[in-house]
Amino acid sequence: MGIKVCKFGGTSLADSAAIERVAGIVRADGERKYIVVSAPGKRDKKDEKVTDLLYRCADEARQTGDCPTFLLIKKRFKEIVKGLKVDIDMEGELERIRERIISSRGDRDYAASRGEYLNALILAAKLGYEFVDAADIIKFDRKGAFDSEYTNDLAFLRLKNIERAVIPGFYGSTPDGIKTFSRGGSDITGSIIARAVGADLYENWTDVDGFLTADPKIVENPKLIDMLSYRELRELSYMGAFVLHSEAVFPVRKANIPIEIKNTFHPERSTKIVAAEDYDRTGKLVTGIAGKKDFTVIFIEKQMMNSELGFCRRVLSVLEHYEISIEHIPTGIDTMCLVIHSEELDGKLDVVLDKIKSAVSADNVSVFHGLAMIALVGHGMKNRIGTAGRLFSALGRAGINVRMIDQGSSEINIIVGIDNKDYENAIRAIYNEFLINP
Ligand code: ASP
Repeated sequence: MGIKVCKFGGTSLADSAAIERVAGIVRADGERKYIVVSAPGKRDKKDEKVTDLLYRCADEARQTGDCPTFLLIKKRFKEIVKGLKVDIDMEGELERIRERIISSRGDRDYAASRGEYLNALILAAKLGYEFVDAADIIKFDRKGAFDSEYTNDLAFLRLKNIERAVIPGFYGSTPDGIKTFSRGGSDITGSIIARAVGADLYENWTDVDGFLTADPKIVENPKLIDMLSYRELRELSYMGAFVLHSEAVFPVRKANIPIEIKNTFHPERSTKIVAAEDYDRTGKLVTGIAGKKDFTVIFIEKQMMNSELGFCRRVLSVLEHYEISIEHIPTGIDTMCLVIHSEELDGKLDVVLDKIKSAVSADNVSVFHGLAMIALVGHGMKNRIGTAGRLFSALGRAGINVRMIDQGSSEINIIVGIDNKDYENAIRAIYNEFLINP
């Protein structure tokens, strides 16, 4: 019998009826042995995610020494336990959590992790599976960096004699306490567990059918991607296709485990999508299009920059010092551009500009705000003559000015930078050019 690791997202576990459905899905296939859960998500559009409520509790506790929002969390979990008729001391668990949020003066990571923790306790009781706390097996160092190999060893040792388990997603621990991944991080936990137990398949159960070739809010009925490589997955999810956390690809990729995106609400519609690098791409040029808005470009100009030793290092040290990460660095002979997520520069832009100017004695440093970036991703583009030409013609016909271009060194993406205001039109123009008539 094979092993499947299943991760269920927040919408799939938002209330007792949803959790009941999930229990049915798990029981329907004996290979579904290790289950990773998110915290309860939104029950409808106006609802709030439990994780958001928990963050609010932590902030309240820090500011006032109390957390009134915890009442909402209590109500949700008590309703879930009542609806499922599971035997758990939920009152006791909730009280301990509330006390700790207050006594820690709003430890945000601890607070945020409790949605997953409680949901895992509940699903484990419902299924009769063992509960395994992620804090015992998923490890970060003191600085907060994830320790993948130590985690893999610990998780393997802990799970090797447990036939079936439920594990909370999203968090692990440092030597000092609880630490979470970034938002949506339960996808990463699922991938880590899949690697540790040597799964045959990582099933990621969510509320959509799979990866779409473009954002459905911009393009009408975009096609579903039928197959995707790890590298394409990484590029698309990093550039804004929010089906799977962009870091979830790494653990399964190491062990060559395929990922399947499944729709909890329509299991029959699921698509097998992420396989090894060598799937059959016959006839496919562009696999998908994704993008993000709101980048800032810092433009640095200096005569003879190209022959000045250490120029780039000095510029980059300034950004490192202010803990700003960079997305792209297109360069010319006497110019260098830094493309940075605008929010990274919040409150730091002026000082960063001054420091860069003096670090390299630049002739000119200027800033351009409101850049959007769009990535065309696909192995099929490698060595295909004329792709960039088609892209620029399509954007030109749509009246869109291209401000930046970066053909990723991975050779499976082309990224264009355009004004924020042109973003939607550009996505439609590119979609029509490459995916309607490939
Ligand atoms: N509950 C966390 C969040 O809302 C993590 C997750 O769902 O993956 O981001």
